[in-house]
Amino acid sequence: MFDYVIIGAGIIGTSIAKELSRYETSVLVLEKENDVANHQTVANSAIIHSGHDPKEGTLKAKLCVKGNQMYEDLENDFGIPLLKTGAFVVAHNIDQENMLDALYQRGLNNGVKNMKMLSIQEALQEEPNLSPTITKVLSLPSTKVTYPWEVAFKQLECAINNGVIFQKNSRVTAIKKVSNHFEITINDKTIIETKSVISAAGIFSDQIARMIETNVQYDIKPRKGEYFVLDRKVKGFINHVIYPLPTEKGKGVLIVPQVHGNILLGPTSTTQDEKDLLSNTRVGMDQIKEDTKRLAVNIPFDQIIRTFAGIRASSSYDDFFIQESKEFKNFFHVAGIDSPGLTAAPAIAKYLVDEVINHHLTLKKSFNPIIQKHKAFYSLPDDEKQRLYQEDHRYGNLVCKCEKITEKEIVDSIHGPLGNDTVKGIKKRARAGSGLCQGGYCESLVLKIIAKETNQPLPNINYYGLNTPILVEETKVKK
Ligand SMILES: Cc1cc2nc3c(=O)[nH]c(=O)nc-3n(C[C@H](O)[C@H](O)[C@H](O)COP(=O)(O)OP(=O)(O)OC[C@H]3O[C@@H](n4cnc5c(N)ncnc54)[C@H](O)[C@@H]3O)c2cc1C
Repeated sequence: MFDYVIIGAGIIGTSIAKELSRYETSVLVLEKENDVANHQTVANSAIIHSGHDPKEGTLKAKLCVKGNQMYEDLENDFGIPLLKTGAFVVAHNIDQENMLDALYQRGLNNGVKNMKMLSIQEALQEEPNLSPTITKVLSLPSTKVTYPWEVAFKQLECAINNGVIFQKNSRVTAIKKVSNHFEITINDKTIIETKSVISAAGIFSDQIARMIETNVQYDIKPRKGEYFVLDRKVKGFINHVIYPLPTEKGKGVLIVPQVHGNILLGPTSTTQDEKDLLSNTRVGMDQIKEDTKRLAVNIPFDQIIRTFAGIRASSSYDDFFIQESKEFKNFFHVAGIDSPGLTAAPAIAKYLVDEVINHHLTLKKSFNPIIQKHKAFYSLPDDEKQRLYQEDHRYGNLVCKCEKITEKEIVDSIHGPLGNDTVKGIKKRARAGSGLCQGGYCESLVLKIIAKETNQPLPNINYYGLNTPILVEETKVKK
């Protein structure tokens, strides 16, 4: 019997796992996919928001501001990438300037530090490509950008090092209360027992709640956001996150510099019934172009290398829903975690464990918050590259030419902590396939390396999860 079962290994489930691993307690994380961070956590803007925008007094406001600060610890402990961009929120006329003043006041009330109002002339000195139709700017120096799924990997790696168990390909299909514990059914067959359940299932949280509660207090209302990705060549075109003024639909369509030099344009915001419809639309793509042209001039749309979409787990509750079930003691909801959920994640985990669960757990003396830091081979000094190449000649075989990723780094991604044997899993870890050609050159090579390392035939290798093969059969087999 476990003390805690966490359902879902996105940024929220993995952050809770890390937080609980500080204590003398047994924890199991269940994830239905064959990888960590396959849903919202892999498809968002990657911004560590300052906290200027959530309504005063909400959990979103409190945990966003706190989470923003806690990312500095994650940078120190795990070496996660954290680009200190700062952000500009822009106004175009006197009405919007008044709204900008109100936003500044909200930021102050929420505890956001170092905000400043800038004239367009002052802002243009820092960002020459800002649209000259802008009249005033709110500067938010505490805004940062990270690499979201790497944060989730590191949170879980730290949790596992401190005793947590992770089980992927494990879809929770039923939950039952039996005397003073819960029985959780995985994939309609295996049953495990636990004293407490924590649901961190993103857009599926309401489905999980309905497995046990008769009166679920929220519905998840999926809200899609579409994006363009610009090639790394555009690095420096814009250096701050650029926000328009927020509306009731969210923070609007943004320009977001990314940690590896790319720039994101997006996201749109459209509600839909489907929880897994991730297609890009003509309407969405046109809207991104229209909206971003109000933020900056000369946007290099000819450098678009990719489109993608993510689905926000927005809820009818209108704030993060982090509560113990009213029907079942020791069943905890961490639901409705849409933006700023990535920012708030470490603070959500702490709030849940300290203030909602509040089980007075004993701290583990052996808890180690530090994990091994990792640097991409191409970013190392030449003598270090030479040393590594002498140790292992696979560092000399460049597989992904766009992102300069070597065979050894791909092999490490397959076998490393939280290793993975899918093409998308390798892309998430080593970045092979993330560049200009989007895997056109290296995907077949990655496929062959996975097949060799896992001792499987090529048609068995999946793109991103179970039963998603890229190849049907080999056509040129030597007899
Ligand atoms: C378009 C978009 C832009 C955003 N931009 C930002 C931003 O810039 N900054 C910011 O702070 N936040 C942002 N967010 C919000 C942020 O991405 C989310 O709040 C955060 O990723 C939520 O993490 P999660 O772990 O709750 O959900 P998820 O990452 O969706 O994880 C939930 C996990 O639960 C698993 N699961 C579900 N059902 C089951 C089951 N039955 N059994 C087992 N496992 C199950 C899923 O497979 C999934 O892995 C954005 C979100 C979107 C969609």
